[in-house]
Amino acid sequence: MTPVSYLRADSVADAVRLGGGESHRLLGGGTNLVDLMRKGVERPATLVDVSGLSTQIEDAADGSVVIGAATRNSAVAAHPLVRTRYPMLARATLAGASAQIRNMATVGGNLLQRTRCLYFADAAGSRCNKRDPGIGCDAQGGFTRYHAILGASAACIATHPSDMAVALVALDARIHLASAAGVRVVPLIDFHRLPGDRPDVETVLAPDELIVAVELPPSDVAARSSYRKVRDRASYAFALVSVAAGLALDGDRIADVRIALGGIAAKPWRALRAEAALRGGPATAAAFARAAEAELADATPVPGNEFKVPLAKRTLAAVLTELSEVQA
Ligand code: SF4
Repeated sequence: MTPVSYLRADSVADAVRLGGGESHRLLGGGTNLVDLMRKGVERPATLVDVSGLSTQIEDAADGSVVIGAATRNSAVAAHPLVRTRYPMLARATLAGASAQIRNMATVGGNLLQRTRCLYFADAAGSRCNKRDPGIGCDAQGGFTRYHAILGASAACIATHPSDMAVALVALDARIHLASAAGVRVVPLIDFHRLPGDRPDVETVLAPDELIVAVELPPSDVAARSSYRKVRDRASYAFALVSVAAGLALDGDRIADVRIALGGIAAKPWRALRAEAALRGGPATAAAFARAAEAELADATPVPGNEFKVPLAKRTLAAVLTELSEVQA
């Protein structure tokens, strides 16, 4: 039995004051953190419960939608503002987990969840640079079906497990980070880090900061948008490949497009190459296939996950084709 202290934050100021210690962890829904504590991967001395902080979903004056970080995933997926203005986000959130987990998990926790790499979770038996920097990586040469094909490093080939974050990156979401110094706003695309030689450092979140809100700007592509997740079984499983995409058409040409891929990198992968290849061009199956080729050109699969390269290309082209056929 490992004793853990429990503190409850009643305000952001409270959370900032209580949560900054080395051995402290912020507790949202606990759906990932508590699991990792049971496995001995996380060993906090103190949990600071932030699940009572903002759960508001607000329609801001500038047309943005602001989601409090403690909002439950189920509330995000069901909210009329999300369902009507950002359908890809509603779909991604529903794809993310069972109803029971969605009812517990929070938006802030979703963005900070850890990889589901089997070797990372096996604290007693496997080497993992993310858990113990410099010790080695047993995934390499091991079971790699869920591992990265883009942006990986010699130190780590893990993927980020979130579905919601993939849609949020495609929607140009910004996150609000609070500390004693105030609030700073970071584009979500810049929040998660690729592993490099420090896979244990997963985000740009400072030790004294917490996520307080996610802001969705108005979007001209969100109305015609979708999220498709390819997984090993029909019930809940992590993505082998997922695609969040939105299209704005001007006749049969692409006025604007946003794409992010999940299940293939240590962060939600914004498909900037594919977007650049498509913007202003024809909305045809051939153009979508060329864009997918361009995005995956630098893929570096490892033995056991080569299949993800053609799977990602096909899924991306299929989602874009489907969106182009939706009647406005
Ligand atoms: Fe650890 Fe990353 Fe290797 Fe998995 S892939 S064992 S998370 S270092």
